[in-house]
Order: sequence, then C-alpha cells, then structure tokens
Amino acid sequence: MIYLDYNATAPYSDKVKDYISNGMINDWGNASSEHDFGYNLSNRIKEDRKIICDFLDCSTGKLFFTSGATESINIVLSQANLSSYGIKTIISSKLEHHATLEPLEFNEKNSFSIKYAENNNQGSIDLNHLENLCQENPNSIVSLLYVNNETGVITDVVEVTKIAHRHNCLVHIDAVQALGKCEFSLDDLDADFVSFSGHKIGAMKGVGLLYINEPKKIHPLIKGGGQEKKVRPGTYNFSSIHSLRLAIEDINFSKNSNLLEMRDEFEKKLYQINPELKINGSDARRVANTSNIYLAGVSSQEVLLNLSREGIYTSTGSACSSGSVEPSHVIQAMGYDKDYARSCLRISIGQSTQKEHLDSLLEKLKIY
Ligand code: PLP
Repeated sequence: MIYLDYNATAPYSDKVKDYISNGMINDWGNASSEHDFGYNLSNRIKEDRKIICDFLDCSTGKLFFTSGATESINIVLSQANLSSYGIKTIISSKLEHHATLEPLEFNEKNSFSIKYAENNNQGSIDLNHLENLCQENPNSIVSLLYVNNETGVITDVVEVTKIAHRHNCLVHIDAVQALGKCEFSLDDLDADFVSFSGHKIGAMKGVGLLYINEPKKIHPLIKGGGQEKKVRPGTYNFSSIHSLRLAIEDINFSKNSNLLEMRDEFEKKLYQINPELKINGSDARRVANTSNIYLAGVSSQEVLLNLSREGIYTSTGSACSSGSVEPSHVIQAMGYDKDYARSCLRISIGQSTQKEHLDSLLEKLKIY
C-alpha cells in the first residue's frame, strides 16, 4: 500500500503503535472510579494533559479533551455558547472544513448572521476584508482554519487574532491540519478557542482537543458527569487520550524539511510530465505535506479509483451529498468552476512516505 492521504488520517505514530501492542490491553478502567485502578488512570490523564499543554504552550486549565475536532468546533459554534457570549454574527470563510460550514448553515437558519471573508484564487484569506467585516460587526466571532485540509494553504492566524481582538470579536481557530506541521504557541496565538484532532497526527480515533481561553463562560454541548469540568462530560476515553499524548511526543518538526524536499521534487517532476497541470495554492504559503493537483480534462474521481486499484491512496476533496458526488467546495471557493474542481487530486504525505512512493505515483500519472 502507498498511503498518500495523510490529511484524511495518519497512520499510528511509533509510540502509539507500541502502546496499542503492549500497554493498552490493561487500560480498560474508568478514570473516574474511586479505587486505585481508576485513580491511577486519572493521574495518568493529568500527566498526559500536562505534556500536551507543555507542547502547545498553554495552561492545563484551558485544554479539554473531546471526541475529535468536529465536536470541538460544534461546542464553540453551538447556539448556547454563541448566545452566552452575546454573539449574533459569525465571520468565517467559504474555505472551511464541513465541520465548520455545517454549523454555520444551521446557525444561519436559526437567526444568526454569517459573513464570509473573501479569499483569492490561491486560497489566501483577504485580511483587509476580514478587518472590514470585524469593524462592521463588533462582538462577533471569527472562525477560520489555520491550515486548509485540501490545499495546505496557511492562514496568518496570529494576524487574524489581532484583527478580531481589535474589534472586540472572539476568535476560533481550526488548527487540525496545523498540529505537527506548523510550530506555534497557544499562549502567543492568544485565540479564544482552538480545535485539534488526534487521528490526524497518528493518535487513535475518537479524541480531540478544545482550547478555551475562558472556560468558565462555556456552555457544554452535552450534560452528564463532571468530567472535564463539565465542559465535556462522559467517561474518559483513556486509551485514545493517552495515544494523543504519545503521538504529540512523536512529533518531530525537523522531519518536515524532508517532506518539503520530497513534495517539491514531486511537483517539479509533475510539471515536467505535464506542463499544463497546476498546483492549487502553490503561490501561497503552504505546509510541506500537501499537493493539490489540477489535471486538465481528467476526472480526478476516475484517477483516484484507478490509483486505488493499484494500492495508491489519494483524495479528491469531494463530498457525497444526497447520493451524488459534489466536487470540492474549497477549489470552487478559490474561484474555479465545478469542472475544474472535478479534475483536482489531493496528495498528502507524512512521516512514512518515501521518495519511491511519489515516484510510483508519478509513473501512474504519466498517462493522464
Ligand atoms: N477540521 C479540519 C481542517 C479537518 O481536516 C478535519 C478532519 O477531516 C476536521 C476539522 C474534523 O476532525 P475530526 O475528524 O477529528 O472530527
């Protein structure tokens, strides 16, 4: 198998693999139990949280475990929370992940106003337009991606936060695709909310994080026990939480330069094979692991299926809605039509990708 779909999910990191094979079988207890078995798990969660917070540079009282980024984002954009913060307007973009777009649509149908910051054809947010929107709508919330999952384009989230705060707006950053790819400090970022997902960095599925600058103000989406200071009640998913700490310990930023070298070499060779193709977002600042390729006149769905038959796994960014495949909304939001979007293929690489994997893909792409 040649796995080139890291932005969908990443293989388990080395420490996570070791934990699943060796330690996990004994960790089935309930961390909220009063006996020592539960108490020990609860202590280990404390330690896991501390290590994660040290890595992200935030205080342990501000970071909450959730089931994943979809849940984290939905907590922030829930009507209960927006209302409790006195927010009536959400400022976002058309480039967001569905985990944001769907709550926005839902809120719009329920008397919230949604404004979209403009972006250029490289997928970069127009920060001047964002500033105008914040100026016209003070006391709203800005919700934007740090790194776009389809193109890898990076938004200057430090600047976004400064702009929003200048106009008394709150800020939520979807940092799912930035974790392990961009070096940042939550303390320096100074956002009000930040969402993360475990499985994108090699942790097990079913765990995410929500950073909340002022947790006392938050309204939980669900009600139940007292876990996570009632922000996110429910029995601790211990093994997933622990795997997130291990995956974070396995992050090695120095390896990103290898990925960048491989990705750039791959794109250079692609242009040599087919001078007509385009790399979406290539003029913008991008993370090292993503290439979104436009293959003129070719159905990327077909390419994906053909590659899949050969054991090479990629993505088109399409969404399946009511039984039909909708071409990527991100590519369309960058100003391209549906036909163009239907010809776009996403390659996303990671720590186990080797140059030979990309060479095999290049060989297969020669026929298009
Ligand atoms: N935001 C981005 C940018 C993503 O790529 C994803 C995952 O596809 C999500 C949010 C949702 O994350 P999760 O799978 O943890 O719910």
